[in-house]
Order: sequence, then structure tokens, then C-alpha cells
Amino acid sequence: MNPYKSRLLEMKSALLEAQDTGDEAEQTVELDQTRVGRLSRMDAMQAQAMSVETGRRRRQKLVQIEAALKRIEADDFGYCQGCGEAIAPKRLEIDPTVRLCISCAAKNEL
Ligand SMILES: [Zn+2]
Repeated sequence: MNPYKSRLLEMKSALLEAQDTGDEAEQTVELDQTRVGRLSRMDAMQAQAMSVETGRRRRQKLVQIEAALKRIEADDFGYCQGCGEAIAPKRLEIDPTVRLCISCAAKNEL
């Protein structure tokens, strides 16, 4: 079994767990808005915006994890989607969802 698979599955379940608590936080903010003052309502709205952003990033990461798991299934994992070269293991250890090697990622940022 691909050593990155268990890592990806762990990341996935951690994110799904965080998603459950995150959704609860979003709901709490909505409920609070009806009984708090203007200033704290702004705080609450800010907190909600942050929580929405966190949720958005989390969903994006989940999509990346799913894609990485599919690449493992397809035996295509660990190869750069830009140039087809193998991605450095150290890079994959930091984030197994990366799809580009260091040089392609650098080019992408330019
Ligand atoms: Zn590349």
C-alpha cells in the first residue's frame, strides 16, 4: 500500500471532523446575531466570514485529498502534472496533495 495513502486518509478524516465542528460554529454565529448588540454583531459577522473562509479552504483541501487518493488508485501519484517528472519525496512528505514539482510550482507562481 502506498505510504501516503494512510496519511491522506488521516488528513481527510481530520478535515471531516473539523468540518462538523466548523458548521456548528457558523450556525452559532447566526443565532447570536438576533440577541447581541451592533458592535458584537460586527464581531460575530467577522467571525462568521472567517469561519466561512476556513470552511471554503477545508472543502478545497478535501477536493485535493480526494484527487491525490484517485492518483494513488491510478498509479499516477507522485508525478508532476506539469512536466511528468517524479516529485521529490520530501515535498510529498510536507504535503501529499501537491501536484507539481518544485520547478513547475515556481513557474506557476510567476
Ligand atoms: Zn514539474
